[in-house]
Amino acid sequence: MTNSKPSVLLIYTGGTIGMMQDARTGELKPFNFKALTKQVPELEKFDIKLSSISFKNPIDSSNMHPRVWMELATIIKDNYQQHDGFVILHGSDTMSYTASALSFMLENLSKPVILTGSQLPIGIIRTDGKENLITAIEIASAQKNKKPIVSEVCIYFEYKLYRGNRTYKYNSAHFDAFKSPNYPALAEAGVDINYNNTALLKTSKKTLLVHTNLDNDIAVLKLFPGLSKKITLAILNTSGIKAVIIETFGAGNASTEEWFISALKQAIEKGIIIYNVTQCSEGAVIQGMYETSSTLKKIGVISGYDITFESAVAKLMYVLGKKLSHTKTKQLLERNLRGELSL
Ligand code: ASP
Repeated sequence: MTNSKPSVLLIYTGGTIGMMQDARTGELKPFNFKALTKQVPELEKFDIKLSSISFKNPIDSSNMHPRVWMELATIIKDNYQQHDGFVILHGSDTMSYTASALSFMLENLSKPVILTGSQLPIGIIRTDGKENLITAIEIASAQKNKKPIVSEVCIYFEYKLYRGNRTYKYNSAHFDAFKSPNYPALAEAGVDINYNNTALLKTSKKTLLVHTNLDNDIAVLKLFPGLSKKITLAILNTSGIKAVIIETFGAGNASTEEWFISALKQAIEKGIIIYNVTQCSEGAVIQGMYETSSTLKKIGVISGYDITFESAVAKLMYVLGKKLSHTKTKQLLERNLRGELSL
């Protein structure tokens, strides 16, 4: 810390929070950062040093891409020493993917990186954006004994702070848009902000390592009764594919039909990672609990345990980006790297 006041960097990527209605079409489109901050005069009252960086062309987060995650991770790396905390304004649609990706890309994080946004643009009277933004900044600047209280990548939305890689967007209409089904909230904001100290990740004493190699040669095969052999094979035989998430039933179960198992087995023999993630939002994959998952374990399918789908996508891109051997890749996928698994 260079200043006695905590210093926070606000990074504006886009999303509803900064959108305005197009007068002609009525569509919501990202607007510039100045227009956003003008709506929140409260920002002037903070007893912190607040700086900002805005994307030149703010985006709706449905246009999010790993190359933007690389850009964000690089912004944080380049500004890491000068700031005590970071707030990223981001659309809620893919916020959980970005939070998950950043959690893997920023190893040994010792400062808060808080993503937030809103369901209603900040210029609308009933906006949820003001509270989200103001409290996210407060959390990003919160310190105890001159050390940040939070030192991980989080999402703050509608009075709750969550570990980003544990969340998913579950509601497009409520202000309370995110859930963290397998991990408790890290803080709750009411009159005070109450931190759940035992749930927070311990601050790393090591130097920050920023990983920007991500590999998106992955696909998803969502299982459903009636999934055809033709479609399954088309996905597994896609040229250049390195990993496939199979979205399974319940505790990681799948059809035991011979063609399905041998298709997966052949893919694994070719070196493709098959990653088992459950369709259930709560609970975990436990391969071997049922007969319908024992074979998956036997043929070398990797268990995602209680990882969210969003985090599984990000973790695969991050781990594949390291270009490790099949065994090392498998080991990293099975290990809890950033608090994304309850292991
Ligand atoms: N479509 C918007 C986005 O994700 C939704 C939002 O911000 O809540 O950018």
